[in-house]
Amino acid sequence: MTDVLVPTSAEEAATAFGDGSGITVLAGGTLVVPAIKMGRLRPERTLFLGRAGLDGIERTNGTVKIGATTPIAALLDGAPEPLATFARHVGDYEIRGQATIGGNLCAPSGGTTPVGDLQAPLLALDARVRSVGAGGERTDSIDDFLAAGPDGRLVLEIEADVPKRAASAAVRRPHAHAYSVLAVAAAETADGVRIAILGAGPRAVRVASAEQALADVDPQDDALASAWYRRQVLPGLVERALEELR
Ligand SMILES: Cc1cc2nc3c(=O)[nH]c(=O)nc-3n(C[C@H](O)[C@H](O)[C@H](O)COP(=O)(O)OP(=O)(O)OC[C@H]3O[C@@H](n4cnc5c(N)ncnc54)[C@H](O)[C@@H]3O)c2cc1C
Repeated sequence: MTDVLVPTSAEEAATAFGDGSGITVLAGGTLVVPAIKMGRLRPERTLFLGRAGLDGIERTNGTVKIGATTPIAALLDGAPEPLATFARHVGDYEIRGQATIGGNLCAPSGGTTPVGDLQAPLLALDARVRSVGAGGERTDSIDDFLAAGPDGRLVLEIEADVPKRAASAAVRRPHAHAYSVLAVAAAETADGVRIAILGAGPRAVRVASAEQALADVDPQDDALASAWYRRQVLPGLVERALEELR
């Protein structure tokens, strides 16, 4: 039998979590509950976040704050791109209604590929992750949070600035219960273009070389074409050239 702790505020959740030892966090439960049922997970103590008031999306001055237990369904209309598009493709209607953004960010790796599709858009958006654990509360860049892994941290909130522009592309199997095979999320943030790939390793990664390549390019208007036109066409041309190199 496992003890189930049911905090009713963020403070209570933080106290109950402590340094995380012996605690299994349960948010939407779409991964944790099947793991318990199948005997792959035997929690000593379970911390259920569903009553801790950690859900909700708040937009102020171009910044979006998303509580850790916000259901993925709420991101479809409430989150900036490319997060909203990635959220739209998670599981099916029931899964999106139950699963949370915090659970997706902290989903344990599936071994060779990530099982949290939202990692890539959060990397592209240069999100910040507020969490508690040993040493108290802190806010990490998404890069640092993913590199360190979620062990020993209880995520409270994820924050991101609305990007100037965003884009995404993916290869997905036409089945509601299939994860993305390969997906790319891109966003132009205040610090430039950030690009992240999902499905090419145990967690989503940024592709610094592609970011740098775009940063190096600064087309100008001239008599032949506008800078806008060149920026639109260039990625397709690079893609065609790379295709020929294969
Ligand atoms: C049928 C099916 C289809 C699915 N399809 C997809 C898909 O297409 N794309 C996709 O990305 N995922 C998919 N998933 C996986 C899963 O639904 C998502 O990753 C989901 O977002 C997990 O969130 P949750 O709240 O249910 O997490 P939970 O199951 O509650 O927790 C998942 C993990 O995160 C930890 N955790 C949860 N919240 C926190 C927190 N606040 N702080 C620290 N740790 C925390 C838990 O301890 C656990 O290790 C699918 C799952 C199922 C069952």
